Amino acid sequence: MSKKGRVFSGARPTGRQHLGNYLGAMQNYVALQQDYDCIYCIVDLHALTTLETTQELTQNTYEMALDWLAVGIRPEESIMFVQSHVPQVTELHTILSMVTPLGKLTDLPTFKEKARQQPQNINYGLVGYPVLMTADIVLYKAGLVPVGVDQAPHLEFAREVVRSFNYRYQTNVLIEPAMKATEVPKVIGIDGVNKMSKSLDNHIELASTPEETRQRVMMMVTDPQRQRRSDPGRPEVCNVFSLHKVFSSPEEVAEIDRDCRNAGIGCVDCKKKLAANLNAHLEPFRTKRSALNENPDAVWDILHEGARRARTIAEETMVEVRAAIGLPK
Ligand code: ADP
Repeated sequence: MSKKGRVFSGARPTGRQHLGNYLGAMQNYVALQQDYDCIYCIVDLHALTTLETTQELTQNTYEMALDWLAVGIRPEESIMFVQSHVPQVTELHTILSMVTPLGKLTDLPTFKEKARQQPQNINYGLVGYPVLMTADIVLYKAGLVPVGVDQAPHLEFAREVVRSFNYRYQTNVLIEPAMKATEVPKVIGIDGVNKMSKSLDNHIELASTPEETRQRVMMMVTDPQRQRRSDPGRPEVCNVFSLHKVFSSPEEVAEIDRDCRNAGIGCVDCKKKLAANLNAHLEPFRTKRSALNENPDAVWDILHEGARRARTIAEETMVEVRAAIGLPK
């Protein structure tokens, strides 16, 4: 292996990706390919824990794959696939569930939150979610998992499960994954308050048209204290400014910072500049996405080929796991 090690990350098929996904995860996925062998998984089984209908599951998987490819995931290098195409993960999930204390799962804040969110559907899969997540990671013997610091407890959980397994069966076939901590910026939505998220409809999709993007930017909530055009603004509390820092040149950012504070520029003009810069940034992405979308079968072929490569690794691990436990051959 010429690279530094293997990275695994999974995300639920949420369809077209937004700026939060892009800045918080996808950009990092692309960058990691430089130094690591990367495995990126669209975790459709995980989605089943919260979905009421699966009607859009296939389309959402496809749209997400398009975005990942268009942004720069290189399938000839990295493995990109759909979780359910590698059934070994459910086998490992069952096996790992036997070394996982139930109390640990029900104590996790994420479980408690989900249980609050959907009291009418506290299903078994919801409790076992972190075990399936652990299976995802260790099945591919990924040494590193890129996560934001807020997800550290999940990774610690995965490490504990691995230790329990290795201790229980006196083996070392499973590798404890390490956290590759990333400074994940929390992208705020166009409401100016909440984390950008599809469910809150406060997002800006990467695949939107330039005009749709402009309209969403124009809807962004700015500094609430700035009531009139003549009021001085406070860039440090303005979400439009946060995005300028990402998508505009340092000179422009300095200019906007100054002109906002002395009311030299109004929010409307400031947003127009952001929309223009954002659209310019997304232009190559959109071109590539449209080209990929011309041939959906080719996109599915990429996912199927990724799954084939993933299954090879997965089966190698499972042969060792079954032997370590002593399951009959
Ligand atoms: P999942 O629940 O599978 O993580 P999400 O769509 O919530 O699916 O998120 C996918 C990835 O995008 C995660 O790594 C998440 O941290 C990141 N992400 C989502 N929304 C934001 C946001 N507003 N700011 C930063 N990162 C985000």
